Amino acid sequence: MSETIFTKILNREIPADIVHEDDLCLAFNDINPQAPVHFLVIPKKPIATINDISEADREVVGHLTMVAAKVAKEMGIDQEGYRTVMNCNEFGGQSVYHIHLHVLGGKLLGWPLT
Ligand code: C5P
Repeated sequence: MSETIFTKILNREIPADIVHEDDLCLAFNDINPQAPVHFLVIPKKPIATINDISEADREVVGHLTMVAAKVAKEMGIDQEGYRTVMNCNEFGGQSVYHIHLHVLGGKLLGWPLT
């Protein structure tokens, strides 16, 4: 797949407000937050969309959710609650083709989406 801006963030070629890093993933605050808390958890392995996840990615994809919960707790939004979202392709609103888990919280979020 072609390189995205998230590869540049992983390679420290462009800055990001990093809140977690480990062998498998990186988490950083979204540059255009849609809620008082809005961070992204991305795998270090570049996977373009949810449709491209393979059996070999089972561990890393599960890990993204574990890290989302860990960082949400560190940010103090775990008890009030929060939302995780992974957009896929055009109708899902995906703009960066390197999978990323959005974590949004810090306010009461509307549902359902329109
Ligand atoms: O789901 P989608 O692909 O639309 O989300 C991409 C997200 O990446 C956006 O919320 C955007 O604000 C964020 N972003 C970022 N830092 C960048 C480029 C994009 O946090 N340098």
